[in-house]
Amino acid sequence: MPSAVSLNVDNVFKNYSTAHNTVEVLRGISFEMVGGESLAITGPSGSGKSTLLQILGTLDEPSAGIVMINGRDPFSLPEAELARFRNSAIGFVFQDHHLLPQYSVLENVLIPTLAYPTSGSSSSRDAAIQLLERVGLEHRLEHRPAELSGGERQRVAVARSLINGPSLVLCDEPTGSLDQETAGDVGDLLTSLQNVDTILIVVTHSLELAGRFDRRLELRAGLCSDH
Ligand code: ADP
Repeated sequence: MPSAVSLNVDNVFKNYSTAHNTVEVLRGISFEMVGGESLAITGPSGSGKSTLLQILGTLDEPSAGIVMINGRDPFSLPEAELARFRNSAIGFVFQDHHLLPQYSVLENVLIPTLAYPTSGSSSSRDAAIQLLERVGLEHRLEHRPAELSGGERQRVAVARSLINGPSLVLCDEPTGSLDQETAGDVGDLLTSLQNVDTILIVVTHSLELAGRFDRRLELRAGLCSDH
């Protein structure tokens, strides 16, 4: 059965205007993906990678062009609905895990389920435990983030990004703070968790990490080329 998950990015522009000038950061980005595919976004510092990821994550609107996620334009939604859509459809992994230090590993993974509880809390808990098993941390459920290694913290962040069953998983330099071997493990983990119901997009400086994904989009001066 073809996946219902899709991403269409059509001629996206992003400008930032200051009092003195306008900076064109993205100048006509277009690409399409379906569920099960993975993409690395590479390019020099300042080429617009984070800006593009923010737009794909519906955290920032394009100045022009269209982004469709699963056939709908998220930016046409009223703000409260957009927040709900973002919470259910998009998972984020950041360079610095962004775990809350006062909560346990299990509680951190459950945080995205708290905004709009849909099912019983015990089933969310079971789902979180299953995800932590999949990332190899079932023996760390009650630990605090400070008691984990950098690689383990990033594994928790990956589990947290998947807890609401997102269509898009967006990772911004997910291995940027890790040593090479641990970075390789997190790269393996990301690709192993990929399935037909998700699109995985990873911004990275690492060509080694980029090489693990199906495609690579290189940004240069706000334009993109597909590899
Ligand atoms: P990358 O992630 O590839 O390093 P960014 O997307 O962070 O690039 O930034 C691309 C360009 O956009 C940079 O020149 C940056 O200064 C500019 N930029 C990013 N955000 C803003 C903003 N909010 N206001 C003005 N300029 C911005």
